[in-house]
Amino acid sequence: MKLFDVYSLFDIEPVSGKGSYVFTADNTEYLDLYGGHAVISIGHSHPHYVKAISDQVGKLAFYSNSVKNSLQEELAKRLGKLSGYEDYNLFLCNSGAEANENAMKLASFVTDRKKILAFGKAFHGRTSGAVAATDNPKIQAPFNKTANITFVPLNDIDAAKNALATKEYAAVIIEGIQGVSGIHEPTDQFLKELEKQCKATGTLLILDEIQSGYGRTGKFFAHQYSGIKPDIITSAKGIANGFPFAAVLISPEIEAKKGMLGTTFGGNHLGCAAALSVIDVIENENLVENAKETGEYLISELKKILEVEDVRGKGLMIGFEVKGWNGSDLRKKLLFDHYIFTGGAGERTVRLLPALTLSKSQADYFIDSLKKVLA
Ligand SMILES: *Cc1c(COP(=O)(O)O)cnc(C)c1O
Repeated sequence: MKLFDVYSLFDIEPVSGKGSYVFTADNTEYLDLYGGHAVISIGHSHPHYVKAISDQVGKLAFYSNSVKNSLQEELAKRLGKLSGYEDYNLFLCNSGAEANENAMKLASFVTDRKKILAFGKAFHGRTSGAVAATDNPKIQAPFNKTANITFVPLNDIDAAKNALATKEYAAVIIEGIQGVSGIHEPTDQFLKELEKQCKATGTLLILDEIQSGYGRTGKFFAHQYSGIKPDIITSAKGIANGFPFAAVLISPEIEAKKGMLGTTFGGNHLGCAAALSVIDVIENENLVENAKETGEYLISELKKILEVEDVRGKGLMIGFEVKGWNGSDLRKKLLFDHYIFTGGAGERTVRLLPALTLSKSQADYFIDSLKKVLA
């Protein structure tokens, strides 16, 4: 059998990892500023994480949601405290797309409305509903195109207002910071106004923090810079440092009934152990603060490089372009000449989504390498 080509790019195979580095079989060391799409939050093979998962798999890896699971209860308590959403309800599932599906389904259930408002350049995942809310026709099959999704431009409050005024929308779904399309931020003012319009029209506000959450931007969730309080928040990627796991945080004001959401694997014991150990490390090593500090440093150093254009993002969620360079050529240079993994977006954008443990000296190595490539 041959493998289906998902999105292979480079013929390099990391076989082990440690902190912000991955290693090939011949022991070549690569600085990982991509974290496999923002998934590696506490660093590769963190010893506390390895132990937590190893211990749990020897005890009980899985049992279904038909029984009591105190690991889930502990996770709800600790994630509530760390995120500032202690009074919200937690639904656990297995991937980002699935979290968004559940969020949109729940919004439709409780509002008894069919439509969802989404934004230009949004990415919400590849399952049927999530890809329908993704503004990229290339990844939507005919089956996924639905009249129930409307797109308006990001930061265009009048367009959003006009749509919501129809009171046909169950929810608005928006990324904390748009990731896949190349790091585009909603303004604080836009988010505040959107929250107001949602309240006025009985529309639920869903914040997709799958890429921008879990401390990456220097706050636990990116939207917390604006002071808004969404009705539903979705989280995945960094939540369990690579173990497939996701969460939907649901406002206590939403009257969800038992049975509206369900899952076989969601909230399994192994995933909970992984997620709990990630919270331990985020707290013990002050990783949200580190993401903020190291991110601000990296952004300010990038802005000093003449050829670098339009540095965007917050904390360790960064996008930029370089004059005269195609993104993938630049990324290849960084990879093959300087042993650095980076992410891309579109033709020209380079995306940095490293582990939240990134140090200042690792940031310096990247900046020096970039300068050498451009020299
Ligand atoms: C990655 C991503 C998703 C989809 O997550 P999967 O785990 O790949 O299903 C959804 N929304 C955003 C913002 C993402 O970055």
